[in-house]
Amino acid sequence: MNDDGSIALKTGYRQKLWPDVSARDWADYRWQLANRLHGAADLSRLLGLGGSEFQPFERCISKYRWAVTPYYLSLIEEENLLSDPIGRQFIPDPREITVKSQLSSADPLHEHNYSPVKGLIHRYRDRALILAWPSCSCYCRHCNRKRTWKQPESVPAKKEAWRAIFHYIKEHTEIREILLSGGDPLLMPLDRLESILKKLKDIKNVKVLRIGTRLPVVLPMAITHKLCRMLSRYRPLWLNTHFNHPREITHQARQACERLQEAGIPVSNQSVLLKGINDDISIMKDLCCRLQEIMVRPYYLFHCDFVQGTDHFRTKIQKGIDIIDKMWGHTGGMCIPNYVVDLPAGLGKARVMPPHMAKLSESMALFKTFEGKTVKLLFR
Ligand code: SF4
Repeated sequence: MNDDGSIALKTGYRQKLWPDVSARDWADYRWQLANRLHGAADLSRLLGLGGSEFQPFERCISKYRWAVTPYYLSLIEEENLLSDPIGRQFIPDPREITVKSQLSSADPLHEHNYSPVKGLIHRYRDRALILAWPSCSCYCRHCNRKRTWKQPESVPAKKEAWRAIFHYIKEHTEIREILLSGGDPLLMPLDRLESILKKLKDIKNVKVLRIGTRLPVVLPMAITHKLCRMLSRYRPLWLNTHFNHPREITHQARQACERLQEAGIPVSNQSVLLKGINDDISIMKDLCCRLQEIMVRPYYLFHCDFVQGTDHFRTKIQKGIDIIDKMWGHTGGMCIPNYVVDLPAGLGKARVMPPHMAKLSESMALFKTFEGKTVKLLFR
């Protein structure tokens, strides 16, 4: 552990796969992107599998692509590649194509139905989401937009598509908040991202911008001072990232969040509850407390969406309720995320918090305290 509370990087894979890389190259996001592992040959080498043993993995990546940055790979413990909580987030798992729940579908949130123009989703009245960039630096196996992963990586939207998006937002004056999502919008070339932010900012009804990105977790060196300075020109701008496990909070990740905060950009976190990765009270509590220590607000804990190819990650809803219940009162409210289920068919997010009030009437309220005591309040 580092002095600042962040976790020291494991260097096993770095030494094994890139023994000669300089510290300077390692810290350069362009080197990281150019040296991503991807494709069947890289995966076969990484797993040390070939022939019939590798076939299930090959079938899996022919449907759902894979890639990982050297940095994120270096966070896993070599001996536990397939069971490591970080490894499991990016190593393809044959169950992605063999386990099929009746509840799951490719687009359970019906984003397609809420897309009036290509690349824009308008589900909630006062805010809209833009699929701003089609690719990611790492492909998270639990991603709820796996259906959009294309082979090879998709091409970014053309100018005409952007024109239609801006036009729609201008016409719909009820939209006051825009979320740039993807893919990872911060992978966009800086000048292009800036011109999009500028155009959005120039639309009168757009009051707030938000960016969803996993770069602070999987490629923190891409959160450069230059990027942060540019983003700071478009405040109020909020950034949501996606830490799922305390081991992801490294020195580099902390510094990336700090650069954003110093530029006046608040950073919040949205985790996904994942079986065998973070569905455990001590791991979730540790994650949320460490996030608070690096000034990142644990904002949402999502129940894993009912997306095809992610069934093996899904826990029971009760598991999430129990975790939040055990955190309540035992750690500060700032450390406790809202546990939510994004309901299928685009019915919206539902907050699923453990109930602390068992009964309420005109004359009394019955509570359960965090220590399990029952308290009755009489109003008259
Ligand atoms: S970074 Fe986000 S969009 Fe990209 S694969 Fe991961 S969860 Fe999906």
